[in-house]
Amino acid sequence: MYHWFRPRGVASGSRSPQLEITPELFERQLALLRRRGYRSQQLSQAVRPRGADGQPRRPVVITFDDGTQDFWEHARPLLAKHGFSATLFVVTGRVGGHSTWDRELGEPDRPLMGWDQIRRLHDDGFEIGSHTHSHRALTELSDRETRSEMQRSRRVLASETGVEPEFLAYPRGRYTERHKQLAREAGYTGACAVVLRWSDLWRSEPYALRRMTVKGTESMLHFRLRLALGRFVRHSQRERPVSRRAA
Ligand SMILES: [Zn+2]
Repeated sequence: MYHWFRPRGVASGSRSPQLEITPELFERQLALLRRRGYRSQQLSQAVRPRGADGQPRRPVVITFDDGTQDFWEHARPLLAKHGFSATLFVVTGRVGGHSTWDRELGEPDRPLMGWDQIRRLHDDGFEIGSHTHSHRALTELSDRETRSEMQRSRRVLASETGVEPEFLAYPRGRYTERHKQLAREAGYTGACAVVLRWSDLWRSEPYALRRMTVKGTESMLHFRLRLALGRFVRHSQRERPVSRRAA
């Protein structure tokens, strides 16, 4: 999972500059993936059992949240150059606008791609998923509001791209058991979370698919370590029973 790009030599305006990666480092990572025989997959393929027909030996799912313009500018040409695809999660109510939801974190507003760009990406084989309709924190919403966020973005994506999105990414990776259930009810096949602790890695479930954040500050050695760890992640086909203890 990647966030934003920052060309080398440009000062960061972010409170989280580690989430910005230079196009040069991103390209070195893609080149390494290619040399090692990794093939990008769509999430719908990746959640099938290992060893299923058509599974590459070394699958990788590259995802980007929010649908920022820098994806179009930097990631798209580099992914194409190295033969990779990606999954993008877009905020349907903000397409063509700015990422103002990050102001509360002290982040600058980032320009977002428009529907023409998103349709083009979809036509080029990129998987487009929902990042809800307005990027509000689901943990602060009622069930009714959460349903609306999930269902509305699904309808908008279906009408703009012609395909119903299969996957959802929870804004800021925050969710509870209830959100997993609501995502299922809204018709999604699965939903993406974020690995916050290393122990999360071993518990990838359909409505809490684990993604590792690749940081722009990490070395290629660190990136290799991520790849090695990723190969041990077992994706369960079923959700674990909800713990009786309050979480
Ligand atoms: Zn987001």
